[in-house]
Amino acid sequence: MPCVYLGLGSNLAEPVQQLEEALAALAALPATTLAAVSSFYASDPLGPPDQPRYVNAVAALDTELPPLALLDALQTIENDQGRVRERRWGPRTLDLDILLYGDRLIDDPRLRVPHYHMHARAFVLYPLAEIAPADLTLPDGRALAELLAACPLAGLERLGAV
Ligand code: ATP
Ligand code: MG
Ligand code: MG
Repeated sequence: MPCVYLGLGSNLAEPVQQLEEALAALAALPATTLAAVSSFYASDPLGPPDQPRYVNAVAALDTELPPLALLDALQTIENDQGRVRERRWGPRTLDLDILLYGDRLIDDPRLRVPHYHMHARAFVLYPLAEIAPADLTLPDGRALAELLAACPLAGLERLGAV
């Protein structure tokens, strides 16, 4: 069963609770096991700076759902948790992004995997490194360890037990 890594983010309406609710919804998906969850982190917003800080985490799923079916399911969870799409990178109750889907390269109008910007996002790479194998490489051959070494923390803070 492919191992899928998801990035979770929220900066509205009790972000920690939003992530916990999302994790419960992920664990309840058909043909899917929630295999691991990173610590929660606080991060500075990407894009418009006039918005609250984010809470982020990364989760690992073992799933039989094909990529686009998984994307549909993630968007349903986002919508169920009140996601409203306004400004690009504007504040949101929940963002669920597919970072990696096994070693697949996917280039669909609705879905690009690996996530196009994961290699440069501290709030993705540091939590991913907590739960991924130490020798994880992206499908293009880049090692997670190399990406981390090139990615400053830039305000990322690991939150205590929540
Ligand atoms: P970013 O992608 O820079 O993190 P975002 O997460 O705020 O920004 P969204 O508004 O959540 O962007 O998603 C916009 C569209 O991106 C979605 O409708 C979806 O079809 C598409 N998309 C492409 N690749 C992915 C992916 N790997 N995971 C989730 N959505 C993706
Ligand atoms: Mg995103
Ligand atoms: Mg998204």
